[in-house]
Amino acid sequence: MTGHVLVINAGSSSLKYSLVDAASGEAAATGLVERIGEDQSHHVHHGPDGDFDDDQAVPNHEAALEAAVRAFETHGPALGDLDIVAVGHRVVHGGSKFAAPALIDDALVAEVTDLVPLAPLHNPANLEGIKVARRLLPDLPHVAVFDTAFHQTLPPYAYTYAVPSEWLDEYGIRRYGFHGTSHAFVAGEAARLLDREPDDLNVIVLHLGNGCSAAAVRRGQSVDTSMGLTPLEGLVMGTRSGDLDPAIHGHLARVAGRSAEETDQALNSESGLKGLTGANDFREVSRRRAAGDERAQLAFDIYCYRLKKYIGAYYAVLGTVDAIVFTAGVGQHSAEVRAAALDGLEGLGIRLDPERNAQRADGVVSTADSKVAVLVIPTNEEWEIARQAVEVTQD
Ligand code: AMP
Repeated sequence: MTGHVLVINAGSSSLKYSLVDAASGEAAATGLVERIGEDQSHHVHHGPDGDFDDDQAVPNHEAALEAAVRAFETHGPALGDLDIVAVGHRVVHGGSKFAAPALIDDALVAEVTDLVPLAPLHNPANLEGIKVARRLLPDLPHVAVFDTAFHQTLPPYAYTYAVPSEWLDEYGIRRYGFHGTSHAFVAGEAARLLDREPDDLNVIVLHLGNGCSAAAVRRGQSVDTSMGLTPLEGLVMGTRSGDLDPAIHGHLARVAGRSAEETDQALNSESGLKGLTGANDFREVSRRRAAGDERAQLAFDIYCYRLKKYIGAYYAVLGTVDAIVFTAGVGQHSAEVRAAALDGLEGLGIRLDPERNAQRADGVVSTADSKVAVLVIPTNEEWEIARQAVEVTQD
């Protein structure tokens, strides 16, 4: 697997990019254009010839990508000097259609457009990124890597909701799961770290960032995951509620006259840690908790209790668990979350080493005699996208 891949992650008002060596995972340059369409945008580019920072207005995604190309010229590396073999695009929702990354052509763009109702917040921005990148970089193959694809191996009893069966056919209502690129990467790294083959390992992956999800991975394949039709379901997150009684929507409509849109918005953007404490940043919640704030303590307890329930559920799903892996901002850095989520699970063969746990931000944090290895592994979605893009183009 050789060559560099320009990895693009287009959000509604942002464009994140990274030029990744698919073999080593090393990023030759990274950059982010934020607040696209506002009076003052922000562009930061980290290249071999230094960092670039600019606050000029960037009106749209096309201008953002043009600015990125200019930054490569001024702060390196010159795009022409590298063996760039593909552009890899993060696409949030691939529906039931995409179980693997795919080469982008007009037909694929049409199919991803058809999936917009399933991911109205994300897919339109991803499509915009694809459109402008294909226009500006027409000579490179473009590959779509879907956040949902890794979870397409879920069995029907795990992905089907117990609702009228025609909802699946008519509206595509089922569990899809997200963060698939991260779960796939981290499960693979766990095997490497334990010197085992991925298809010889059962792993529970806990991706705890601003968004949070758990996955049960049996022999390299995702068999269950906590996010559902949308990224709202499952664990407590920065601003999302995770699991709740689906009757809450109707109840709020009746007693408070709240529309579906309003409740959706509150559950996605005003809930989770933010709803409970006012702060969505886990570090802030930790600080307040340490200072004796009761709401922060309750939020922490809810967060870790929900995690523990999923660990128990996925332990039962897998039957045998070789490793539990923590990743993303909170998973990698919060020893207290790992300790609280795993507290009392010694009967399941899970023994955290308090010293290793407190000290390490990667590697093994369980005791030598723990039946289940507990691992901290930094995720690297850009590298995974680069690898998958190369696989598709070199097939
Ligand atoms: P991510 O989406 O992976 O960037 O993760 C973002 C989340 O990780 C935020 O809630 C951060 O507060 C949290 N985070 C980052 N660094 C730390 C840290 N050192 N300790 C606890 N949480 C952290």
